[in-house]
Amino acid sequence: MKQLEISLLPEQCHDEHSTLDSIRKKSGIADLSGVRILRKSLDARKKPIHFNLLVEVYIAENVPERDLIFDFKDVRNAPHAIIVGAGPAGLFAALKLIERGIKPVIIERGKDVRERRRDLAAITKLNTVNPESNYCFGEGGAGTYSDGKLYTRSTKRGDVQRILKLLVKHGADEKILYEAHPHIGTNKLPQIITAIRETILHYGGEVHFNTKLTDIILNNNEVIGIEINGKDVLKTKHVILATGHSARDIFELLHHKNILIEAKPFALGVRIEHPQALIDSIQYKCDTRGDYLPPASYSIVNQSLGRGVFSFCMCPGGIIAPAATAPGEIVVNGWSPSKRNNAFANSGLVVSVDTKELSAYQHLGPLAALAFQQQVEQQCFAATQSLQAPAQRVLDFVNKKASSTLPDCSYLPGLQAHKLDDVLPSFVAASLRDALKAFGQKLKGYVSNDAVMVATESRTSSPVRIPRDKETLEHPQIKGLYPCAEGAGYAGGIVSAAIDGENCASNVFKQNNI
Ligand SMILES: Cc1cc2nc3c(=O)[nH]c(=O)nc-3n(C[C@H](O)[C@H](O)[C@H](O)COP(=O)(O)OP(=O)(O)OC[C@H]3O[C@@H](n4cnc5c(N)ncnc54)[C@H](O)[C@@H]3O)c2cc1C
Repeated sequence: MKQLEISLLPEQCHDEHSTLDSIRKKSGIADLSGVRILRKSLDARKKPIHFNLLVEVYIAENVPERDLIFDFKDVRNAPHAIIVGAGPAGLFAALKLIERGIKPVIIERGKDVRERRRDLAAITKLNTVNPESNYCFGEGGAGTYSDGKLYTRSTKRGDVQRILKLLVKHGADEKILYEAHPHIGTNKLPQIITAIRETILHYGGEVHFNTKLTDIILNNNEVIGIEINGKDVLKTKHVILATGHSARDIFELLHHKNILIEAKPFALGVRIEHPQALIDSIQYKCDTRGDYLPPASYSIVNQSLGRGVFSFCMCPGGIIAPAATAPGEIVVNGWSPSKRNNAFANSGLVVSVDTKELSAYQHLGPLAALAFQQQVEQQCFAATQSLQAPAQRVLDFVNKKASSTLPDCSYLPGLQAHKLDDVLPSFVAASLRDALKAFGQKLKGYVSNDAVMVATESRTSSPVRIPRDKETLEHPQIKGLYPCAEGAGYAGGIVSAAIDGENCASNVFKQNNI
């Protein structure tokens, strides 16, 4: 076995067979018996567009099996910890507790992945949002019907490969272990989430759906239990609070109980959608992308009128999703199927918001940014009086001109033409307009009336932080409470949430000697 760096054209490495064959030819190793790809990234900066691969090549021996063995223990009779929320953080916290010999008891306000699907269909077909079961709430959390992009900058916080290997163990394609921008796809995520739940149950953990945390019971600032569904009490000394950035009732509960929370900067804006073929032609500088190149993506950032404006969660070949968690608000986000074969490319385009600037909301203290976020979402709903989202063609928006028609769009509840200046805060609209001029210079053709902006992309990250001790990860005032992942302000995305879930679980073990 030896390692080799090699560049291949897209048509030379589009499947296992062509990759092996091309490496055999290019390396001149005739008796090469197999390869394992360690890294694969696309280089589209100059022609010919090619993939750079780092591979292990095997000569006269088989490629060994991947090590996907984890030290899960039978925790049926072990001491327990409660995890609130079955998103990526909650599920990976549970797997880590099982490795540490602690029984995870997950409570989740929403339904299991299969039941949840009906509520997603109702959003599109009936225009109704179930506040307990939607694109953000339910088994797998916001991660289940997400795009499943798995890249993260949180490499220092934990072992990214371990998270990816756990996903592969539960059914994800091995490609995620080596691709520079790994992606699972919405169609594949539910089976993986189900398999993770089955592992948790198999080793003696518990998962309770339709079970909402409604209070945290304290004695002398120590957790002694939780109230669920407003009536029952579960005794416990350890609560990992992994409720995500959309659980507004949790932030309100903590605030009303005088448990410290803080307002946190976040970002808000629109989802922008282009024909995928337009993005391909911009990024690959070609008329058509052909059979072997993946749908092109982009990442853009600009400093505009003193604020950061950036693309967020770009979904090539994707769909714009209705991601509100309550009736009377519009929230958009994006996902894509594993093949990314939809005709559109969408991305969040958002403006950073510093809570210090939200003077009209300051009387709400740490809930100021949350109230601002909610008000914009409700303003969008008020404009259309339905889940149809206010939208404007991109060039029209830049030129402050109303769009008389709108292009086709992947957002299934539909669009209504509105001037986005009427629904977005003025500083958000002004920064977006300024940034778009810069993006149009950088990506020729990006500012086009074939593209549409859809309001509002508001759930980019949590507008609230739940503080915690850097060492113990416990809340500084409440013993036994572990604020976790995206909702608490310590993660942004599936992998970083999963890592934070693991870290909280490890600390439950370390701090408590259980
Ligand atoms: C449409 C969409 C696409 C996305 N695409 C990507 C992507 O491609 N890549 C990526 O990295 N990230 C993506 N994200 C973001 C990603 O899903 C989140 O960052 C991630 O899921 C956060 O994980 P979490 O476990 O911290 O919280 P969440 O996933 O939000 O999970 C929190 C869970 O807690 C539950 N809960 C809330 N309150 C209570 C309560 N009181 N009692 C019991 N349970 C409760 C919720 O029902 C939910 O299941 C996307 C999000 C959306 C909505």
